[in-house]
Amino acid sequence: MAAPQARDPLFEVEDLKVHFLTDDGTVRAVDGVTFEIPRGKTVCIVGESGSGKSITGRSLMNLLPGMARIAGGRVRFRPELDQEVEITALDPRGPQIRSIRGKQISLISQEPMAALSPVHTIGQQMIPVIQRHLKLSRKQAADHATAMLARVGLPRPAERLNRYPFEFSGGMRQRVCIAMALACRPKLVIADEPTTALDVTTQANILDLLQELQSEFKLSILFITHDLGVVAEVASEVVVMYLGKVVERGSVEEIFYDPRHPYTRALLRSVPRLGAGKNTRLATIKGMVPSPFDRPTGCDFHPRCEYAQAGLCDVTDPGRVIIGPGRDVRCVLQSPATVLDANPSRRVAHV
Ligand code: SF4
Repeated sequence: MAAPQARDPLFEVEDLKVHFLTDDGTVRAVDGVTFEIPRGKTVCIVGESGSGKSITGRSLMNLLPGMARIAGGRVRFRPELDQEVEITALDPRGPQIRSIRGKQISLISQEPMAALSPVHTIGQQMIPVIQRHLKLSRKQAADHATAMLARVGLPRPAERLNRYPFEFSGGMRQRVCIAMALACRPKLVIADEPTTALDVTTQANILDLLQELQSEFKLSILFITHDLGVVAEVASEVVVMYLGKVVERGSVEEIFYDPRHPYTRALLRSVPRLGAGKNTRLATIKGMVPSPFDRPTGCDFHPRCEYAQAGLCDVTDPGRVIIGPGRDVRCVLQSPATVLDANPSRRVAHV
């Protein structure tokens, strides 16, 4: 039998905690998140609004809102096999992280109109960034920007450099954002709901383009979405988040064919199915994601969970149950090989 391959992830996120300091108190927006991003693969973070998926993504660039603080844990980035940068230890405004953002890690956001400056042409926004990160002359950077616009499918790319964002359709603007994100040949692209604002046909075209560019540029992608249809199409690995915690993690096959957490199962049941009769009612998850100011005791999901056990789930916060390499679940119903609780220094073996 072949020996199992050693994991050599591009990113390791270990027990990451991000708190928001608000006038009403501290919000645990990300509460002990652990996962990896392998080289050249797509990891999808999925969950409802308020699950902490976007803040987790932005933590990988140490690009958080002013009220947010990294309260614990680590994000390690290994751009090369013999190189390691602890992103969470860097000054978020310092030169080292600024040289990484945009060059080695870039972001594609949901709303390209918000990501692009309305008062500058596409060339004015792309060329200086390419010059700075790739150390090119203005002419070389303009040629490179033109080639990138052509690569993402914009007709007459040289002419487009002199156009303003409002002169493009929504799909074309997202193609411009993809060209900008990939122009400096990053190792990781964080795609935060990049197709949510687009119509279905444009969404499919953008997903196809991202997958083509991923294999051409040997990219890793962290894809943030609430849409399990998109997850099924693009993911290699899936991280399911609920109220700031990872409740289940595994390969896309494991998540879709062997979901273990009641929340993952409920999410999968709420996906519309082709062939279902027109009178078939779509399953929903009862209740709503609680306010982070008013977290339930015990398991965060217990007020909505159909399997909740009184006296157990409303009292005990289940630890992270490791059931295989890259595979864990946070639920008391699992038969664990190993449970890691909220304190990573305490490892409890259950067999
Ligand atoms: Fe449901 Fe209990 Fe598992 Fe939480 S720990 S998901 S409440 S069964």
